[in-house]
Amino acid sequence: MKAIIQDLDYQQITALAAETGQPTFRAKQLFEGLTQGKDISQISTLPAAFKAELLNRFEDSAIKILKVFTGADGTKKFLFELADGNIIEGVLMSYKYGNTQCVSTQAGCRMGCKFCASTLGGLIRNLTPGEILSQILKVNALCGGTKEKRAVTNIVLMGSGEPFDNYANVVAFLKRLTSDEGLNISPRNISLSTCGLVDKMYDFANEGIPLNLTVSLHATTDEERARTMPVANKWKISQILQACDNYFKVTGRRFIFEYSLIDGENSDARHAEELIKLLKGRPCHVNLIRLNEVKERTLKAAGEKNAYRFLGILQKGGISATLRRQIGADIGGACGQLRASYLKEEEGKDPSANGG
Ligand code: SAH
Repeated sequence: MKAIIQDLDYQQITALAAETGQPTFRAKQLFEGLTQGKDISQISTLPAAFKAELLNRFEDSAIKILKVFTGADGTKKFLFELADGNIIEGVLMSYKYGNTQCVSTQAGCRMGCKFCASTLGGLIRNLTPGEILSQILKVNALCGGTKEKRAVTNIVLMGSGEPFDNYANVVAFLKRLTSDEGLNISPRNISLSTCGLVDKMYDFANEGIPLNLTVSLHATTDEERARTMPVANKWKISQILQACDNYFKVTGRRFIFEYSLIDGENSDARHAEELIKLLKGRPCHVNLIRLNEVKERTLKAAGEKNAYRFLGILQKGGISATLRRQIGADIGGACGQLRASYLKEEEGKDPSANGG
């Protein structure tokens, strides 16, 4: 694989143009074209010789949209192909206030959560800042957005991968995303979800990117958490809560907990009461969601009635909480499900046949 030109920021693009004997306005044209989600070959303002030179060194396209699935509720799911042929996925959800895109930070994941489809094949590789950014540039362009009038208004780092397991690239991506020369998206419109890598949570508080920090909790004791989340063997819930308190202290941003309701595992009234004890008085919000059942996994979703009861107990106990609807369930809404089924489908195909 050649280098990814989207990994370069404006300053580096300027240096690149200078190095190849191009005037500064060419750097601007190149950077603008890339920000519009174009491949190098599609930037019509650039002279052919300059493009040919670039294509010697860089991939034409960091990422291609392979397939788009549109759900009954308007949710769009995307399958992307990276330049080395790896497949990742993303989602675009439409709300009254705008469109939220869910991006992936790794191909695969090594966290091993028992309910998640993204981790089934382990970690394949980290995505570069340009590959993460390109997911947004491509989807924004596909939906008719520009840099000034974005079709993608909000970003969540909740696709496949553990963002803090690819820390440096994710921070570089976030700096690009929030900068004037990038897409200028406010950190307030960005959420990052982590399974709770505590050391990185402390580091991130000091990066000067006060986004919405979300932690996947999914249990109320370390023992129970370890049953579905191996990371619980490394970091305790008490350490996670301390890191969250620190995040609030440094950034002034309240934090969010993801809690997927799993039948017979974490969704009894007792768990709701324990959650109240853990979180009471903390500047946080709880996002409940009924587990999206994953074919390859045996865990079952808590029933709807049960989920509302759980929500009611939390709210009565003074905890800010909402029950999210299962978005795009008809198009493989859960993490990594779409990619997993795509790869399986491809596996069954004759590789010499043109799958299309
Ligand atoms: N690695 C990060 C972000 C990716 S997952 C993290 O762990 O937070 C985004 C969210 O979806 C996480 O809260 C994750 O625990 C949750 N999730 C994964 N698979 C799920 C499923 N099958 N049903 C419901 N939530 C799921």
